Amino acid sequence: MIKKSLRVRIVSTFIIIVLASLFLSFGITSLFSERKVTLEQQFLTITGDIATLLDLTDPDQRDKVMDILSDYHIYGAVIKEGSELPFSLTETKVSPLFQSTTSEPLFLDIEKGPNPVRLIGVPNIDNSGSSLILKMDFTGFLEIMQRILLVGLFIVLLIGSFLILLAAHYIVEPVKRLTSAAKEMATGNLTVRLKHKKKDEFGELMDSFNHMASELQKIDKMREDFVSNVSHEIQSPITSIRGFTVAIRDGIIPADRQKEHLEIIYQETLRLSKLSDHLLRLASLDSEHHPYHPVKYRLDEQLRRVILVAEPLWTEKNLDIELDLQACPVKADHDLFEQVWQNLINNAIKYSDEDGVIEVIMEVNDLAVRVHITDTGKGIPEIDLPHIFDRFYMVDKARSQSDGGNGLGLSIARKIVELHDCKIEVKSTEGKGTCFTVSIPL
Ligand code: ADP
Repeated sequence: MIKKSLRVRIVSTFIIIVLASLFLSFGITSLFSERKVTLEQQFLTITGDIATLLDLTDPDQRDKVMDILSDYHIYGAVIKEGSELPFSLTETKVSPLFQSTTSEPLFLDIEKGPNPVRLIGVPNIDNSGSSLILKMDFTGFLEIMQRILLVGLFIVLLIGSFLILLAAHYIVEPVKRLTSAAKEMATGNLTVRLKHKKKDEFGELMDSFNHMASELQKIDKMREDFVSNVSHEIQSPITSIRGFTVAIRDGIIPADRQKEHLEIIYQETLRLSKLSDHLLRLASLDSEHHPYHPVKYRLDEQLRRVILVAEPLWTEKNLDIELDLQACPVKADHDLFEQVWQNLINNAIKYSDEDGVIEVIMEVNDLAVRVHITDTGKGIPEIDLPHIFDRFYMVDKARSQSDGGNGLGLSIARKIVELHDCKIEVKSTEGKGTCFTVSIPL
């Protein structure tokens, strides 16, 4: 089977277009030539013009004019009544000439054939009552025209096809490059990029391809990091659980200290369960089908409840909680937003030193409500600020982990906030404290 390459398609399309246009133009021309009246009229006009020329010519010079005309397959003779008839004409055919009182050209006869030869007469071409008879034989002329036309068409097709073939190279070449780059990418090589200087649609396509490749590379890197982070986060509690159970089983840990180690095992299982909970929540939020039930509820009441639930945590550190809340109804997914406030308030408590202050302030205007959660804790170094919403990012990994953290709390909070078309921002000064602001449009 012939492979239908783009190049073959372009050249064949060109040939089809040229041939179709020619057939169409021939069709239109033949339609036109069917209107014989017009063509015959033209013959009469030509004959009339030649007769006028001969009339203006000195009678001695007429033969010369006839000679010149014969070069164009127009043969002429001037006759008088009773003189010998040229071109095998009969008396009956020429009699209308001698009866005419005007100089209007008349059709005398048509010699039938594929290219009919016309015999036309012009009466009274001079004062002596002579008539001019012209025989127009365009057969040869038409044959030459036909040959020129055919050769022209053939040359047009040949040169045109060759030029189109060259031009097709410029169209096909970028497509071929894109195809081989896409194939290369399919083998797993995401570093492939297309260099080009084109500013046309192909240039745009290559830019889009390069953009897609770099986005895929980013996603692939994120996926690799995610898998390695998850395995690490799972591996470390499992290692300590295994270590302590083996130590207890083998009697390495004395009976009076076993309770303490069992408590560590219990805390590690809690950590694993929290991790799997967070991972499931993230996976669910990432999927398009996460259940999302926006309802109207009082935001101030929700904040007050979350703070109340966290009371054991903040009283343990003797933290001062300052609230500035206003009655404000919002429309959002109640459970999801509860998770946001829990994560932010628990972090504020977790990263605060004893006797610190936590402020929860609501700022309401016509357009939005802004909730600021400010603590006087250790703060976040400027260099870490752009990353704290990344999955598994922990500023002080050892401390976060010892507090039961896994670096997923803020990424879940941001995901939920963005799902609601809201915004979360952070400002922090190391050693002074941190302020998270969530803006919810009303
Ligand atoms: P984690 O489970 O470790 O708390 P998060 O995603 O909630 O994970 O937070 C990411 C990191 O951001 C934390 O490890 C911590 O270093 C930093 N962080 C978050 N909130 C605060 C805060 N209020 N004060 C200081 N650091 C914070």
